[in-house]
Amino acid sequence: MTAIAPQHRLSPLGLFGGTFDPVHYGHLRPALEAQQALGLGSVRLLPCRLPPHRDRPARDAALRLDLLRLGAREVPGFRVDDRELRRSGPSYTVDTLRELRLEQGAERPLVLLMGADSMRGLGRWYRWRELFDYAHVVVLDRPGYVPEPAAEVAPFVAERYLSGPADLRRAPAGGFFRLPVTPLAVSATRIRRLLAQGRSVRFLLPEAVRRHIHQQGLYGYPQV
Ligand code: ATP
Repeated sequence: MTAIAPQHRLSPLGLFGGTFDPVHYGHLRPALEAQQALGLGSVRLLPCRLPPHRDRPARDAALRLDLLRLGAREVPGFRVDDRELRRSGPSYTVDTLRELRLEQGAERPLVLLMGADSMRGLGRWYRWRELFDYAHVVVLDRPGYVPEPAAEVAPFVAERYLSGPADLRRAPAGGFFRLPVTPLAVSATRIRRLLAQGRSVRFLLPEAVRRHIHQQGLYGYPQV
């Protein structure tokens, strides 16, 4: 008979990275559902530096961070972690996970959350296999994207499928799981486009975020 590893005493820590330009309900609702379905003690939202080719004004990082803080404030257990903005150079997730592993200790389960579109591109991430040395990976469904890993990643991931959320506590890292969440076809691209056209983004993102965008005339929205 195979021995079953004891459940880990420390609650798993959820990690959710993104550009958050701006944060919206397509980020917050799936992350909240993951928090509850997976029993995550807390969720860290990690805004990344924009890749150089996006060529945006320097104020963007501070702006995205302010808006993310306003949005995260609504959700108990969510915290914004701005380490990638404070670090110089590219924001490699593997570096972030290594740092967090050192801070959280070897035993605490870390759970990297990502939407299905991010998972599709995982094979192009810097040292992507090493992500699994530091964390479990959980993919959240996103409308319009195939919820399966791309071909180059699939065999690696196939060996790591967990049978359910309880397995996340049986090891600190290394597992893979797919979590169906309420499908919300919201994207930051669409929100930026609506704002630039002076159209409403109400109900697509937290009201405090919307109000701040309007008051400051951000993303091209005509200032009130
Ligand atoms: P953009 O439109 O500017 O590319 P985005 O809306 O895709 O932005 P990001 O900040 O790039 O948002 O995404 C951060 C994380 O949230 C990624 O893992 C992404 O897959 C996930 N995500 C974003 N929107 C959704 C959504 N509607 N449903 C599920 N996951 C989402």
